[in-house]
Amino acid sequence: MDRKEFADKLLKTKHDFEYYEKLYPKRDLDDKAMVTRYAPSPTGFVHLGALYAAFISMKMAKQSNGIFFLRIEDTDQKRSIEDGVSKIITDLANFGITFDEGVTVDGDKGEYGPYTQSEREDIYKAFAKKLIIEDKAYPCFCSPESLKEDRERQEKHKERIGYYGYYARCRNLSIDDALKKIENGEKYIIRLKSKGNFNHRFKFKDEIKGKMELPENDQDIVIIKSDGLPTYHFAHAVDDHLMRTTHVIRGDEWLSSIPVHVQLFEYLGFKVPKYAHISPITIEDNGTKRKLSKRKDPEAAISYYHEKGIPNKAVMLYLETVANSNFEMWMSQNKDKDVSEFVLDFKKMPVGGSLFDYDKLMNISKNYISTLKASEVYDMTLNWAKMYDNDFALLLKKYKDYSIKIFNIEREQKKPRKDIGYFGEVKDQIWYMYDELFKPDKYEWQRITDMDEIKHILDVYLNKYYNISDDKDTWFNNMKKAAISLGYAGEMREYKENPDNYKGSIADFSTVVRVCLTSKSNTPDLYEIMRLLGKDKMFKRVEMVI
Ligand code: GLU
Repeated sequence: MDRKEFADKLLKTKHDFEYYEKLYPKRDLDDKAMVTRYAPSPTGFVHLGALYAAFISMKMAKQSNGIFFLRIEDTDQKRSIEDGVSKIITDLANFGITFDEGVTVDGDKGEYGPYTQSEREDIYKAFAKKLIIEDKAYPCFCSPESLKEDRERQEKHKERIGYYGYYARCRNLSIDDALKKIENGEKYIIRLKSKGNFNHRFKFKDEIKGKMELPENDQDIVIIKSDGLPTYHFAHAVDDHLMRTTHVIRGDEWLSSIPVHVQLFEYLGFKVPKYAHISPITIEDNGTKRKLSKRKDPEAAISYYHEKGIPNKAVMLYLETVANSNFEMWMSQNKDKDVSEFVLDFKKMPVGGSLFDYDKLMNISKNYISTLKASEVYDMTLNWAKMYDNDFALLLKKYKDYSIKIFNIEREQKKPRKDIGYFGEVKDQIWYMYDELFKPDKYEWQRITDMDEIKHILDVYLNKYYNISDDKDTWFNNMKKAAISLGYAGEMREYKENPDNYKGSIADFSTVVRVCLTSKSNTPDLYEIMRLLGKDKMFKRVEMVI
């Protein structure tokens, strides 16, 4: 029996590999255009690190006028969950990650599908057959028990674990021996016949990490499993070739598989794509740096950002800063440009892990939220509250216009206030503006604490000097006049020069008003707060103090 017949006997396929080569022709794109992909298992869970990798892959394709596609890698059926795929698609879309091609919630889009690996069985088998014909792959009949024995022996003798050299027991079986085993009903899988030598160095250049050297692969890795499905290694090589991926961008946990992957491409006669291995986002744990972990770190799940109310856009801006640290500078120098104009560069990506920096994320988020209109902040806060704080949502809805005005204090201006980092903290910042919430557990009185004096200040100021229709300058002048009339210095400088001549300064005086109305010693613009509260609310609050 010749190898072709042998291959046909081992793997039944509808088509041969040539058919598939023709079916998926080279893409008609510019030389510089990158074809990239995001290739998750359908676990339904999007990790921050995965979002980061997906973003980089998307951005690289977009900025080069290429193609970014979604491929679902479900050959390990244990890792699939129901709705896993649509959950991933929706979660990513919420963060602005969209695909030109690939799996969508309504089926496949694009000419290079199917984009779900479990639907591509015939394709993988066709290419596995090609390898068998060329004597680059063979059937392996080793039972799980004998593999286990070998493994135990390797462990005992401190040898490398795996199917190689002496341990690759089926690699030299003749076709006749193999046929006999098949006739006896023995089960088989298909392995690669590696010509690699572990003592030789394999040289390779990664787009991000630069030049690398690893031992050659000498393991006869499995390419087709007993369930007829390919292993991840084999599937990705066949898929990335046929889907005409130019750049495989993925987490650097795959770096050590590079010798196997390049070997697969070469044995299959494919052009090797460029690889870009992204360094992980890390966290410090007991003095050591480790990768953000799904099990240990809440920040690893993107639902964390949703629950806190950190805008998705802010998370993406943060990730872009992690990807290229010059992005932040670019943003501040190009305020009028859209961030999509920033060009991401593999060469500027970190080669080691990047520590997850919550403070930086908050800074970016505060900056971002400060650029929004009051009505947008209102909508986003309301959306958050509807999910996580229903009472607050009801208040926001009841007092819509009033709330928008509150959000507009020191906003929509040249240097807006940067106080909100996440929508979950908004209520703590503005609660005192709502009578329903105004139940202070303490008043933050500062230098003036004598209650008689406080009452006196409030009485004189609010009854004789405050006028809600005053413009800001008049308002401030009147406050000064009131302060002076009660023995306070109208200017800070005067007070500093002769502190003994005064009861206090204008600042002490206005603090009494501020604390009475809000209970807080530190608030946004008091003039605006007073105008929004209005006389009724103000007098009610004075009464509460008295
Ligand atoms: N399915 C693989 C994973 O999620 C994809 C790796 C790759 O991008 O090649 O880990």
